Amino acid sequence: MVRVRFAPSPTGYLHVGGARTALFNYLFARHHGGKFVLRIEDTDIARSEKVFEQNLMETLRWLGLNWDEGPDIGGPFGPYRQSERLHIYREYAQRLVSLGKAYEVYAYPEEIEKIREQLLSQDEAPHYTREYFESFATSERKREYEQKGLKPAIYFSMPRKTIVHEDLVKGTVVFSEGSVGDFAILRSNGVPTYNFACVVDDMLMQITHVIRGDDHLPNTVKQLAMYEAFGATPPKIGHVSTILGPDGKKLSKRHGATSIEEFRSQGYLPEAVVNYLALLGWSSPDAKEIMSMDEMISKFSIDRLSKNPAIFDPVKLNWMNGHYIRTMDEEQLIHLISPFLNNWGFLAKSPEWLREVLQTVKDRIHILKDFQTAADFFFIRPQVKVSASQEVREALIECSEKLESSQSLDKNYVVNLIRSVVKGRKVNAKEFYTTLRHLLTGRNEGPELVDIVYLLGTSETAIRIKMGLEE
Ligand code: GLU
Repeated sequence: MVRVRFAPSPTGYLHVGGARTALFNYLFARHHGGKFVLRIEDTDIARSEKVFEQNLMETLRWLGLNWDEGPDIGGPFGPYRQSERLHIYREYAQRLVSLGKAYEVYAYPEEIEKIREQLLSQDEAPHYTREYFESFATSERKREYEQKGLKPAIYFSMPRKTIVHEDLVKGTVVFSEGSVGDFAILRSNGVPTYNFACVVDDMLMQITHVIRGDDHLPNTVKQLAMYEAFGATPPKIGHVSTILGPDGKKLSKRHGATSIEEFRSQGYLPEAVVNYLALLGWSSPDAKEIMSMDEMISKFSIDRLSKNPAIFDPVKLNWMNGHYIRTMDEEQLIHLISPFLNNWGFLAKSPEWLREVLQTVKDRIHILKDFQTAADFFFIRPQVKVSASQEVREALIECSEKLESSQSLDKNYVVNLIRSVVKGRKVNAKEFYTTLRHLLTGRNEGPELVDIVYLLGTSETAIRIKMGLEE
């Protein structure tokens, strides 16, 4: 049975890269009818925060990436929060010590740093070996540790040999002999390092496949060596390529919104975000781009993950989001946009009226936030003073009076009424319509004028014409 995990560190909001990793793991698990595990890697005590953990979970749920085992729902291999598994790491570190694959280090951090500096000054890579630390393990030092309530750190003896990794995405990767030295697996405060905790957990949680960002490729050699030391078979591991910004540089804050939280608050739809993320380094065999989660699940395979960096293109994401807005169920759209309207203080005359306003501007918006500038004039009277030629002024006033006294709000009636005034007075039609649009919306472009008049209503239209015309 396929078992994969998403293992975020709760040190910040979920960003594009992390969400894509979660999505690929989710699609892979669902495609194979396997399990998707959420594991919180919170061993960096200083930087991990509960709010980020909560936010990660909420964001994953918003994206529709629901997990089968995790810190909140438990599961057969829990706990799923690394900070609750410290006793397990201690036990497994001891196991490696007894096997002669790891050793205790009684040196203080500043002494370890000194060794590093010395190696560097001799132009050598700072690769530790057991011998460097032996002299510190005196009986006096051990007593000192006991008195201070300290435990020795545990270092892993990295085998000095070439390690070959068959990556699910990148193909064969060779880590040559001596590229990595010994490294800490357990700090003297009992907290494991990432590489060790990750191996112990993937092993105990029976993870079969790991899909993660290629920034973790250098860790893989250490992790493979530890699996070997435990006599365990490692999961199959694939590293997905980096995500770059449109300028070809690593995606970062400079490129604008990068956290899923930001996209959510601007009014991107989860369906569009997951669809777009899936295409960052994966493609469907039929080259289809707009896909539902179910379609992606049925088409997903690791062999279609790209070796090449993916380019994050906000224009394409916006286009895709616009597509989802236009094709989405109207009730659902109203439901989603309501909190935004409340925020902006936009009061709808009625649910039916709001539905019609949405229909009118829907083609013009890419994200829900755009609705504010695309439709504000329906909710708020623009503060404008517009000048016009004498003829156009008179025609507009005539229109406003006729509209005010008319009972009908039929669109055809409105169109005919306006047209007959324009024709009857022989005014410059272009000037007339531009001025009218400006009076009603405060802008030079937007939806059809007849739709605007119809949705504003005759009396509001009349008021805007009268109030906005320059004396
Ligand atoms: N906690 C690691 C991270 O957030 C997980 C890496 C992995 O998937 O092994 O990058």
